[in-house]
Amino acid sequence: MSTLDLYDKYVLKNYAFPPLTIVRGEGTKVWDDQGSEYLDFTSGVAVNALGHSHPQWSKAISSQLDILAHCSNLFANPLQGELAHKLADLIGPGKLFFCNSGAEATETLIKLARLHGASSGRHEVITALNSFHGRTFGGMSATGQEKTQKGYHPLLPGFQYAEYNNIDSFRQAITPQTSAILLETVQGEGGILPATTEFLKALRDLCDEHDLLLLMDEIQCGMGRTGEWLAYQSCGISPDAVAMAKGLGGGFPIGAAWFSSKVSSLFQPGSHGSTFGGNPMACAAALAVIRIIEKNGILEKVQEQSTKYHQQLNQLVEQYPQTFHGFRGKGYMMGLVLRDNPSSLIEHLRSNGLLTVPAAGNVLRLLPPLTVSAQELQTSLDILHQTLSSSPALESIPTS
Ligand code: PLP
Repeated sequence: MSTLDLYDKYVLKNYAFPPLTIVRGEGTKVWDDQGSEYLDFTSGVAVNALGHSHPQWSKAISSQLDILAHCSNLFANPLQGELAHKLADLIGPGKLFFCNSGAEATETLIKLARLHGASSGRHEVITALNSFHGRTFGGMSATGQEKTQKGYHPLLPGFQYAEYNNIDSFRQAITPQTSAILLETVQGEGGILPATTEFLKALRDLCDEHDLLLLMDEIQCGMGRTGEWLAYQSCGISPDAVAMAKGLGGGFPIGAAWFSSKVSSLFQPGSHGSTFGGNPMACAAALAVIRIIEKNGILEKVQEQSTKYHQQLNQLVEQYPQTFHGFRGKGYMMGLVLRDNPSSLIEHLRSNGLLTVPAAGNVLRLLPPLTVSAQELQTSLDILHQTLSSSPALESIPTS
C-alpha cells in the first residue's frame, strides 16, 4: 500500500488529505517519494528555522542520543539549565518552563493569568479576534476564530475577544474579572497581520493601568522569524510572559514559556509540570538552533535579505492585480493576500516546485527557513512569475 493509501485507511482525517509524501529534506529543499524536488517555503509551518537536516543541528541531537535521551523533571539535566539561561539572556531576567508544543506553552500562560488573578477574584483573559493560540481547550478557547471552536462547546470559560490593533476595543473588553491580555505579535494563522508598535505600547500601558499581565504568543513569529529573536522586541515593550515553540527546536518538538521575575514565583512546586518538557534531546536541539543562529549572524541576514525580497513581492503584487490584493510581512513571515482562495495557486506552485502554506482563507504564506539563500529567494520569485503568467485558471494577467 502507498503512504497515501495508508493515510486514507488508518490516519485520522483531522487534516486535509495530504497532496504528496515528503521523504527527505536538505537545507531549503525537500524531495517527495517520486523523486521530485521542491523549494520548501513552508518550513513545517515556521518550524524548520535552519532548514532541513542542518549538519550541526543533526549532530547536536544525535550526539545527545548516546549520552542521555530522557530524564524526568524529578531530576535536573544540564541542558535544561543551559537552555533556560540562554533564553533568559535573549528575553530578559526571569524564569523558563519547558513543554512540547505551542498549545501547551499557551496553556501555561493561561494558567499564569489564573494564578495572577486568584487573590483578587479575577480570571478572565482578553485575546484578539482572528487570533490563533492552539488546539487544546485553553488554546482553542483563547483563539478568536469560531471555525477553530466549532463543535467543541462549551469552551473553557473566561475569555473576552477584542479587535486586533484597536486599543479602544481592548479597553472596552476589560471587566472587573480581567486578569491578562494574550496576543500574537504577528497573527499567523489569521493571515500575517503584525501588531503596530503604537498598539503594543498602548496595550502595555493599559495592562499597567489595570494590573493586567501582558502575555505574548510568539509561537509562530518568534525565534528569529521576523529578524528579531522575538517579534515584539522591535517595538520596545516588555511583556510579563512569552510563549514559544515551533522554530525553537528547529524540527525537534519543544515548547517554552518565559516568565518575568515579577510573576515567575506565582508557580510553586506542584503547580504545573510536563513529563517530556525540557528533556535533554529537545534542549540539545534548541541550544543548537540558538547557537547556529548566533554564530552565523542569521538574524542580520534575515533582516537584510527580507527587505529586498519584500520589495520584489510588492512588485509581484502590482504586476498581477487580478490575483493579488496586497502583501504583508515582517522578516520571513510573509503573506501574499489574494482576491480569492489561495488553494489553486498553491497547487500550481507545488507543481512547479515551490511549497507554500495557506492562511485565513485568502492568504498565501511564504515561510522559508531563516537560512534560505539569496539564490533560493530568487528561484521562488521565478517560480511565482512562471506560475502566474502561465496559469490562465488563476486569471493572473500581468499588467506590465
Ligand atoms: N500559537 C500560535 C500563534 C500558533 O501559530 C500555533 C500553531 O500554529 C500555536 C499557538 C499552537 O502550536 P502547536 O501546534 O505547536 O500546539
